Amino acid sequence: MTGDSARSTHDEFFADACEALGYDQTTFELLLLASREIRSELVLRRDDGTISVFNSYRVQHHNARGPYKGGLRFHPAVDLDEVRGLACLMTLKCALVDIPFGGAKGGIDCDPSLLSPNELEQLTRRFVGKFHRMIGPNLDIPAPDMGTDATVMAWIQDEYSKIYGYSPGVVTGKPVLTGGTVGREEATGLGVATVTRAVLEARGDTIDGCTVAIQGFGNVGAHAAAALSRMGAVVVAVSDRDGGVHAADGLDIDRLAPATLRGGRLADSGLPRIGNDELLALPCDVLIPAAAGAAITGANAGSVSAGLVVEGANAPVTPAAAAVLADARIDVVPDILANAGGVIVSYYEWVQNLQQVRWPLEQVRDQARDRLLEATAAVLAEAASESIDQRAAAYRIATARVRDAFFVAGL
Ligand code: NAD
Repeated sequence: MTGDSARSTHDEFFADACEALGYDQTTFELLLLASREIRSELVLRRDDGTISVFNSYRVQHHNARGPYKGGLRFHPAVDLDEVRGLACLMTLKCALVDIPFGGAKGGIDCDPSLLSPNELEQLTRRFVGKFHRMIGPNLDIPAPDMGTDATVMAWIQDEYSKIYGYSPGVVTGKPVLTGGTVGREEATGLGVATVTRAVLEARGDTIDGCTVAIQGFGNVGAHAAAALSRMGAVVVAVSDRDGGVHAADGLDIDRLAPATLRGGRLADSGLPRIGNDELLALPCDVLIPAAAGAAITGANAGSVSAGLVVEGANAPVTPAAAAVLADARIDVVPDILANAGGVIVSYYEWVQNLQQVRWPLEQVRDQARDRLLEATAAVLAEAASESIDQRAAAYRIATARVRDAFFVAGL
């Protein structure tokens, strides 16, 4: 497979893992194919009275280890192929950090920036109208992803609860006010920073003074930047879809992040600008792609001059790019490890919902950190003992866990 979609990217890495584990073609296909794929049209009456139609998707990949779990993405590039790849990635991510979930993903092919708040809310409620039989606290639990946030999760929870009664466990990443957990919003970015520091230290490097460039300054990128700054790293460049800003002696993330997370644009910050391509090629210690998939491809991987690439986004490095980076001896920390902090804290949110208890912030943060560091240590140990890269190690550990759960339960 040679395409650059999340699906083809994932399939290729997954096929390598199955081959290395000695699985036959049937087992590979059983693990690769989704249990269920749903596409549905959503009809929306716009504020001006006209009608728009949007495609929406939910792919439930595997539930051998627990209910399906995965984000809901609102983005114009959403299609079935992308959602398929991301759903499978979720299965492996949950297995790697050993939480009792399977994998799923969903989305609507819309541009949220072109919808009013009312239209966005109505569209989200339409999604629940079409998909409520397939989601649920013990069935499939959506969470925020690109273009969605805690408010979107609150609308889903509300619409679902109208049908089934109070059901906070139907989504994670919802506001604390409606049953969300403290520590969820920053969890993915904080996890990216935690894993980055652990990998640097395992290489004999230190986070202190380490220079970092981050593509994507949304939920993942902005919180990763803030956490890395607090750990002593120097964040020299960040970007959003309109380009980025750059400061060789470090950006003031505490000033930039709150404005951007409230919907502001980096372009309005008045700081020196840098293009997204330029940012990816910036000489620095750590490069974190934390925006869309396939940001680093066979075409631009040769320009990467960072010492380490940490995948904040899902599937930002294509197989062709991975080969180029490997030749250049640039290590890549794979998405299923680097950005797993979010789904770990989603799991803690779900546990709190089911038990109707509230954990303090320290408990959420400490347990998420310990679980991530345990997974990081396992990946680094597997990579060292088998002389393979971190992605191959992570995929092998996760794939074996899914396969074993699948077969022990019987076909
Ligand atoms: P978001 O919508 O909050 O932010 C996305 C950011 O990327 C924005 O700053 C946007 O302007 C920027 N962007 C979009 N397209 C770009 C482009 N072509 N070039 C440069 N910047 C671009 O999304 P998010 O929740 O931060 O998710 C980002 C990535 O992380 C996605 O791949 C998502 O699947 C993955 N992820 C998110 C979570 C989570 O908890 N939010 C968890 C795991 C993985």
